[in-house]
Amino acid sequence: MINGLKFLLMPSGEKAVAKPNDVLDRILERHDKKIFQLNNLIHPSPQAEPRHTFTPRIPASEMAMATLSGRQRLKILPIMPRLLLEMEKSAGFYKERFQPASNHISAEALKEIEELAFAKGATAVNYVKIPGDSIFEGKAAPEPYALVFTVKMDKEKMDTAPSFDAFREVARGYMRMAVIANIVTNRLRKLGYAAYPGTALGGLSDYCRLAELASIGAIGYHGLLISPEDGALLRINTIYTNIENLPIPAENPHAWVRDFCSRCKKCVRSCPVDAIYEQPQPQPNGRVKCIEAKTCLDYFAANFGCAICIDVCPFSQMGYDVIKERFRGNPNAAHFTIPMKIELEFKEEEIGRLSD
Ligand code: SF4
Ligand code: SF4
Repeated sequence: MINGLKFLLMPSGEKAVAKPNDVLDRILERHDKKIFQLNNLIHPSPQAEPRHTFTPRIPASEMAMATLSGRQRLKILPIMPRLLLEMEKSAGFYKERFQPASNHISAEALKEIEELAFAKGATAVNYVKIPGDSIFEGKAAPEPYALVFTVKMDKEKMDTAPSFDAFREVARGYMRMAVIANIVTNRLRKLGYAAYPGTALGGLSDYCRLAELASIGAIGYHGLLISPEDGALLRINTIYTNIENLPIPAENPHAWVRDFCSRCKKCVRSCPVDAIYEQPQPQPNGRVKCIEAKTCLDYFAANFGCAICIDVCPFSQMGYDVIKERFRGNPNAAHFTIPMKIELEFKEEEIGRLSD
């Protein structure tokens, strides 16, 4: 929390010496470490990747967060301290292992949980068994299953990206996710299930991949999730749980999105620093890389988190249903395979081993 306040109070412009995003990375690392207070963790598989950091290569004085005006600092004040506080609360759930009374949930109890998440602002909720390659290298997950949910960002605000207003809206999205994760975790625990909220700003696992595996949407060429409810205007969080009988979808009906991407590529053309690949790049570990992360991060840090690719995406501008109707409903539309195979059924050996 102290680091978080430093983040808001640090000097600006030429006087800035510490990179504000370093501070974010340090906060996340501190939260991540809490997982190792628990036993019986799910570990990443050898294919796992490290989590990207928030720290760019550019000097601190060039970063947007180091150049906030007094007025902008005042405008972000109702959001950042609450976000940091809620993240502290999330970390508090990792103090000791929760002893569950059950690992099976009734349809009524699950409905109650989903209704609670929606009432608090979630736009989609679904479930996944966590493959080991979705847990970041050097991290671990407390339970083998996850409830994954999204919140929507305001289109009007995101239409101004890159801007302070769009940045503030993204931060508000993170804050709302942290609040929802903590409330739903509390309820799950009261019902007797193990539940641990993911860190809203990014945590132990790859939320985007988990959301795709949970069939909430599909990852577009910009490397971000696209869903029917929110297009690309979304943020994702998870709650890890021990519930074994979750209705995990057998297949993802949104994979056609990448067929559309291979025709669209608007994000590729719109990225000011050419950080998005023309063709997503398959990696030796079986994963796919969509963007050159370091190039993106430098621009992202200097320009209020950029988000141009989120905003220009036709799924954000027109909505998923309109595109689906026009694209799939057109018998003359080209359909083709793209080099981006995402295995929806994970293999047993990919699941991290249980350790004492
Ligand atoms: S802008 Fe086009 S190519 Fe990029 S993610 Fe959106 S639909 Fe796909
Ligand atoms: S956030 Fe901006 S810099 Fe990064 S990939 Fe998207 S458009 Fe490019």
